[in-house]
Amino acid sequence: MAWLLEGTADMGNMNDIFDTSRKTLQDVEKRLEMPRREFLQFCATLAATMGLPAGAEAAVAKAVEAAKRPSVIWLHFQECTGCSESLLRAEHPTLEKLILDVISLDYHETLMAAAGHQAEAARKAAMKANKGKYVLVVEGAIPTKANGIYCKIGGQTAIDMVKECAADAAAVIAIGSCASWGGMPSTIPSISGADSSPTGSAGVAEILGKPVMTIPGCPPNPYNFLAAVVHFLTFGKLPELDKLGRPKFAYSRLIHENCERRAHFDAGRFAMEFGDSGHRQGYCLYKLGCKGPETYANCSTLGFGDAGENNWPVGCGHPCIGCTEKGVGFTKPIHQVAKMLNVAPPLQYPRIVEEQGKAASFASAAAVAAVAGAAAGAAVMLTRNLGLSHAAEEAERAKAAGKSADDKAGA
Ligand code: SF4
Repeated sequence: MAWLLEGTADMGNMNDIFDTSRKTLQDVEKRLEMPRREFLQFCATLAATMGLPAGAEAAVAKAVEAAKRPSVIWLHFQECTGCSESLLRAEHPTLEKLILDVISLDYHETLMAAAGHQAEAARKAAMKANKGKYVLVVEGAIPTKANGIYCKIGGQTAIDMVKECAADAAAVIAIGSCASWGGMPSTIPSISGADSSPTGSAGVAEILGKPVMTIPGCPPNPYNFLAAVVHFLTFGKLPELDKLGRPKFAYSRLIHENCERRAHFDAGRFAMEFGDSGHRQGYCLYKLGCKGPETYANCSTLGFGDAGENNWPVGCGHPCIGCTEKGVGFTKPIHQVAKMLNVAPPLQYPRIVEEQGKAASFASAAAVAAVAGAAAGAAVMLTRNLGLSHAAEEAERAKAAGKSADDKAGA
């Protein structure tokens, strides 16, 4: 796994992965059964997802048309298969074609026709034939308690299987929150004395004892996975990763920074209950427990399922649950208000009276500085007040509830 996290491919492998013979777009058109225009549009989408500059789609298209299909072994452990379902349910007409034609999916328990011993034999054969060159994708957490007996496949524990498959892989990708850091199965039950999940679920990096590329989410956006794979095909290296192994192109900004409801947050317009008038008018969901302010992901800009704009939890009216963040998703109560990691209220408002024709003076510069300082102070106050106003509303509700109980008792 020479290029696992260094960000640079083992170039010895690259000749095996790339077919150096000249291929044309017509060849790709035929191979993928996809119109050329659609193929180029797809490459442009992936290039944009990766944050590449204009024109990079040509390099992406060249890499995809020239690449041999890298062998992919996809393991399933403690999970709901939602990551695979998300990938397959994407409505983009070319995605299924690309995932089946750009990569060679040699082992995937949900999708492969083989079953039982035949399936395991196919995995071993693919590993042997592509030793040091295949990509290992892991979906699901790995149980560690009782020597891992809570998840066995073909008589082998998930712990042993992931170690065996990772040993000769060119790269390991943990897809979904469960494989990335334990996700839902790692939730500690709220019973007294519990200090770990019932099965001791862990992420792939913890089991292998080394960092791997992670694409967390429940489910993750399929384009983030595909863009990471195509980045490798295009540049011969993995995309730049953050300290949790997540591609920076997808996980470097808070959801809150680009949320379509952000203007309501800044203006102090919040939905207070599901179905109230604020909720119906699309107000900010912060007070319903939205974790967008402490969750890094590109859900607010990428959307899901190619089903048009606003197709993501907050767009559909549900608060973000922070599924990409360890310690937030499946850990913090859904309706607990989020911690403000990066408060950035509007630094300026439209001027009502615009003075014309005057050069900047020391006084005006000082005034601007004072406004900026006030804005920074306002950010701190905003954070404080959000918590206070929420607490005040809770107290008000409790008081009202107590009063009505008293009224009933008196009646
Ligand atoms: Fe959007 Fe949630 Fe931030 Fe409100 S708190 S602006 S709904 S991300």
